[in-house]
Parts: sequence; C-alpha cells; structure tokens
Amino acid sequence: MKKGTLFVVSGPSGCGKGTILAEILKNPNIYYSVSATTRGMRPGEVDGVNYHFFTREQFEQLVQEDGVLEYAEYCHNYYGTLRKPVEEHLNAGQDVILEIEVVGAMKIREKCPEAVFVFILPPSLTELERRLHKRGTETEEVVQNRVAQAEREIRCAESYDYVVVNGALEDAVQDLDAIIRAESCKTKKNQYKIDEVLGK
Ligand code: 5GP
Repeated sequence: MKKGTLFVVSGPSGCGKGTILAEILKNPNIYYSVSATTRGMRPGEVDGVNYHFFTREQFEQLVQEDGVLEYAEYCHNYYGTLRKPVEEHLNAGQDVILEIEVVGAMKIREKCPEAVFVFILPPSLTELERRLHKRGTETEEVVQNRVAQAEREIRCAESYDYVVVNGALEDAVQDLDAIIRAESCKTKKNQYKIDEVLGK
C-alpha cells in the first residue's frame, strides 16, 4: 500500500496558517498531528485537541523514551511532535500535516528527507503587523516582538520546498491544496499504479 506523505507547515504567528489549515483539514483523509507542549492552556483550548498539555517532567520523560520525532524550545516552552500517531497514520496511507516552527522543521528535514516543507508567508511585514494589532489581544511591545520574530522565521523560508503567500485566504487554501494533490501524483509514490495497469 502507498505510504502517506508527511507535510511540514511553518509560518510566523499572525500569518493565518491556522485558518488555512482549518480549511485543508476539512478533507478527512488528512491527519493533523496534535503536538505535545509544556505551555499553559489558552482559553478555549482542549487537551488532546489543540495540544497534549504536559508538565516539563512529563515532556522530558517523553523525549528520553524517544517518543518525539522532533522537539524545540519556543518562547520558553517545549513543543514536540509525537512519533507514534504520525508513523501509524503514514503507514496506514494517510497524509499527515505537522504545524511546527522552523527549528523543529529543519530537524524533520534531516530525519525524514522525503517530507514536503511548506512555508506560509504574510504578504508583507506591514500587513502582518496590522493583523497582529487587529487581534487586539496583545500589547504594542508583544506585537513588535512578534514582528521581529516573524522576520527571523521568514529568513528560514528559503529552505522550504514551497512558499504560500496568504494574501487572499481562498488563494492560499487553493495553493496548499494544489501542493498536497501534486505530491500525491509524484511518480515515485505511484509505481504500484503503473505496475497495476501493466498487470505486473
Ligand atoms: P503556539 O504556542 O502559538 O500554539 O505555538 C507556538 C509555535 O510552536 C508555533 O510556531 C507552532 O507552529 C509551533 N509548534 C507547535 N507544535 C510544535 C511541535 O510539535 N514542534 C515544534 N518544533 N514546534 C511546534
């Protein structure tokens, strides 16, 4: 059976990757990997849905047991991808999406060279700043920190396979969907179909 494809999606805070992924994940054949984190739960978040919320001790234990594919420290908290569910879904032929920051993404690049890397870009830093202000939940200082952090993250975008600019949401969703579809048609993933047609 054909193995699923691992997609790694990164992008700065405020670039709209959550909204794009919510649309993409309406496709039931794609599995979204729920990460483990040591950060506190935000209002409205649910343990096991948004993240698996762990203590630092639990997280370190998980890392020791080789339970994560990658992990990184971001804003003083650990974030990591749980190995078991990702491997199980890929082996069952399902595509898997990891939504992770750039350091973790580069670790996946080393471990899983066949993974596909997509960076979500805001149309400009000015637009990103405008969107962060619009959220209205952050102080000016926090917004400026996020813009500076975004700039650092965007410098890593050139190591990704694809870039999707989130100007108009619908276009960005279509672009990501097109990437996922094209990857599933790659010859190396479909040798079995060629053999089937040839009766091999
Ligand atoms: P937030 O705290 O806003 O939910 O996430 C902060 C950052 O951590 C985001 O850039 C998000 O993509 C990233 N992140 C979430 N899960 C993981 C993970 O499992 N591994 C890594 N390396 N980063 C993650």
